Amino acid sequence: MTNIPATQSASSQDVVDTFGRPLRSLRLSVTDRCNLRCAYCMPEEEYVWLPREDVLTFEEMAQLAGYFTDLGVDKVRLTGGEPLLRRDLPRLIRLLLQNHNIKEIALTTNGILLSDHAEALYQAGLNRVTVSLDTLRPERFRQLTRRDEFARVLEGIESVGRAGFTGLKLDTVAIRGFNDDELIGLIEFGKHYQAEVRFIEYMDVGGANEWVPEKVLSRELILAAVGNYYGSIQPLPERGSAPAQRFQLPDGATFGIIPSTTTPFCSTCDRSRVTADGMWYRCLYATAGTDLRKPLREGVSAAEMLALIRGGWQSRRDRGAEERKALERAGLREGGLIGIDRLREDPHLEMHARGG
Ligand code: SAM
Ligand code: SF4
Ligand code: SF4
Repeated sequence: MTNIPATQSASSQDVVDTFGRPLRSLRLSVTDRCNLRCAYCMPEEEYVWLPREDVLTFEEMAQLAGYFTDLGVDKVRLTGGEPLLRRDLPRLIRLLLQNHNIKEIALTTNGILLSDHAEALYQAGLNRVTVSLDTLRPERFRQLTRRDEFARVLEGIESVGRAGFTGLKLDTVAIRGFNDDELIGLIEFGKHYQAEVRFIEYMDVGGANEWVPEKVLSRELILAAVGNYYGSIQPLPERGSAPAQRFQLPDGATFGIIPSTTTPFCSTCDRSRVTADGMWYRCLYATAGTDLRKPLREGVSAAEMLALIRGGWQSRRDRGAEERKALERAGLREGGLIGIDRLREDPHLEMHARGG
């Protein structure tokens, strides 16, 4: 029998941060490694990987998730790096599902290994799959990701429905001058697989040092292009803290926009992230996190772990994207978020380490 999260049965003690935002959604990065080199995320060929012994075991992840659920978390998203590079992910899902406070487990993947694992993931109880897909052109895919894996991603997308999943999402980083001519093609592709496409505005996070404001395809431009093609598009009601704004096309199909750069949604942000080696970040843009692995491995009590996480959330003031937007308005924003020297010193600051 594997470890059941230690605090599973404790009563819920929901906690809010300094702006009254609850702690609801946890992104668990299961590995920092990746089999692609997307230009906006891991532009270098070589990275300093986390030492194997530093990476949390599945039992440690489940135990940590148990503390978070005691404080209000009910949704867990598995991410990376590329999460399917971590062997036997279904075992982690089964472990997490022993915690009945978890209402939903989702996975964000680049899709390359998905067709090998979709069925086992479904059988293990995974609820939702999001596949990242930025282009439908194999050559563009290779240019963006430096790998010739487009065909396997398509196989992965096809395998999702076959395995039994519904509600597939396709996340597309919308990049001006790169894939702005594929918005309609991607929506149509999504319809074919009963998948909702969500266009994410390009963010200058971590090692995305190829970011320049001119490459951001804004929500307004996306809406204009899609509206121009389909005619009227209707906004759908917002869903609480969900980052995507959703829209309906005349034929009933839907798509989403995650306007992280031009219209930040920090005021309702209930998300935080744990890296594969147990660093906890309260914001995608945070430059400092809390080491949860050390106290976990030192065997501190559940009460102390809960106090650490509760205190960390209660003191949370992060509004990373809004602050960057304010700096930009004041003309004070220069270049990328974090310099390359700083990134080399602390790889946790990379997008791929903290899980997007
Ligand atoms: N490797 C998996 C994947 O690509 O789906 C999971 C991790 S990846 C870091 C999570 C998400 O972050 C992906 O959808 C990716 O497109 C997005 N992402 C990475 N860098 C980004 C950036 N600079 N701007 C916007 N989205 C980004
Ligand atoms: Fe691309 Fe995801 Fe890998 Fe980043 S972690 S390089 S977004 S596949
Ligand atoms: Fe949340 Fe930080 Fe993103 Fe704002 S920038 S939505 S606070 S993760």
